[in-house]
Amino acid sequence: MSTGSDAIQPRLVNPIPDVPQEQTGPRKKRGVPEGLWLRCDSCSATIFRKHLEKNYRMCPECGHHFYVPAYTRIKQLLDEESFEEWFADLNPVDPLGFSDKKPYKVRLEEEQKKTNLREACVVGRGYLRGRPLLLGLTDSAFIMGSMGSVVGEKLTRLIEEATRTLLPLVIVSGSGGGARMHEGIYSLMQMGKVSAALGRYHEAGGLYLSILTNPTMGGVAASFASLGDIIIAEPKALIGFAGPRVVSQTIKQPLPPNFQTSEFLLEHGFVDRIVSRDKLRGEISRIIDYCERGRGH
Ligand SMILES: [Zn+2]
Repeated sequence: MSTGSDAIQPRLVNPIPDVPQEQTGPRKKRGVPEGLWLRCDSCSATIFRKHLEKNYRMCPECGHHFYVPAYTRIKQLLDEESFEEWFADLNPVDPLGFSDKKPYKVRLEEEQKKTNLREACVVGRGYLRGRPLLLGLTDSAFIMGSMGSVVGEKLTRLIEEATRTLLPLVIVSGSGGGARMHEGIYSLMQMGKVSAALGRYHEAGGLYLSILTNPTMGGVAASFASLGDIIIAEPKALIGFAGPRVVSQTIKQPLPPNFQTSEFLLEHGFVDRIVSRDKLRGEISRIIDYCERGRGH
């Protein structure tokens, strides 16, 4: 389980010189000047920030998908003002008194401040083109989006609510880490907990769409992210279990081109469809309509 400081880094924007690091999270700090321009990681084009935001945070030149904070993603996916957040009061704790480069408690406080998130996961209910659904998201900006106890608990409660109501369930994964090593076994058992809840939802006849974004790795990829009835990935996302370096060292062979990308996984049957971000809303609503009709609603 690759987690913590050795986990794969998400592809965050490298701002051009003199441009302050872009802020993550739902709210911007007042009084902090924002760069008007940034550079595309993929094609190096200089992009007007407003154009990027209007374009679902996709590069207007090459379509490269930039990182999207959880609350921005909710705005992109759901009908305006329709999201009702659940279990937002769940706070992470430090059950092991863990410390690596810094105490876990301090790390949590710093991450909360940096991202304006309380944890790496946001869940709730909303509407997409008028269709009610339950939505969960993980945000790679918060300790790599790794699955600590709170992430596992929020997702499990969401899935249990989905099982009770039989509403469609959509989970958008953006997790470069898997289990969160700072919480040890408490974190590790979340994989089983979330997967078991999804099993019960499946038995009840629920529809689960898993949306994989860059990056989806480790224990997240090995549990809820891979258990969708339909699995959709954004283009060129990094998706896998162990990082490419670890895999290549273990099997002592060079890796095939495009290894652990959406495109590679589509070719090998792990992903059902690759959908660019601007088409996600349409695609999800179409799938929901199709499957609900199939259920005779
Ligand atoms: Zn580009």
